[in-house]
Amino acid sequence: MLLFLDVDGTLLPFGADRPYPLYEAPATASAGSAEHPLLARIDPALGPRLAALGCALVWATTWMDDANAYVAPWLGLPPLPLVDWPDEDEPPGGLHWKTRPLVDWAAGRPFIWLDDEITGRDQAFTQAHHPGRALLHRVDHRLGLTERDFGVLEAWLG
Ligand SMILES: [Mg+2]
Repeated sequence: MLLFLDVDGTLLPFGADRPYPLYEAPATASAGSAEHPLLARIDPALGPRLAALGCALVWATTWMDDANAYVAPWLGLPPLPLVDWPDEDEPPGGLHWKTRPLVDWAAGRPFIWLDDEITGRDQAFTQAHHPGRALLHRVDHRLGLTERDFGVLEAWLG
């Protein structure tokens, strides 16, 4: 099972009307993490929690190479494959610009996509164009991934 993982608004919460708790840099954090002060909003415990799902984790984020340089070490995860985005215009009809590339990348393999910007349009596109199972799960960007989200994933994975 593939698991496409967004960073901003999924691992790294933003937009709440109160200050966020800041986490200490874990021992695995890469040198230079201090140059990315927002990393401190990411709970390092999310790494083992995600790894325990038993899925093949794949970055699906605009962080690109910085996801492996900074976020993966922060989470105690190995470098992960990352989806490279085509240089295309915004798709019409409100479809998220990530949706088609992710469906293409999955190439029929079952997948989970965690992102704070998923809408019904993305669900409908995936149902129409992806033959395998897929769970598109929207995370609340103000909170990032929570235990409630993990409950949904674990129930779906069975
Ligand atoms: Mg996001």
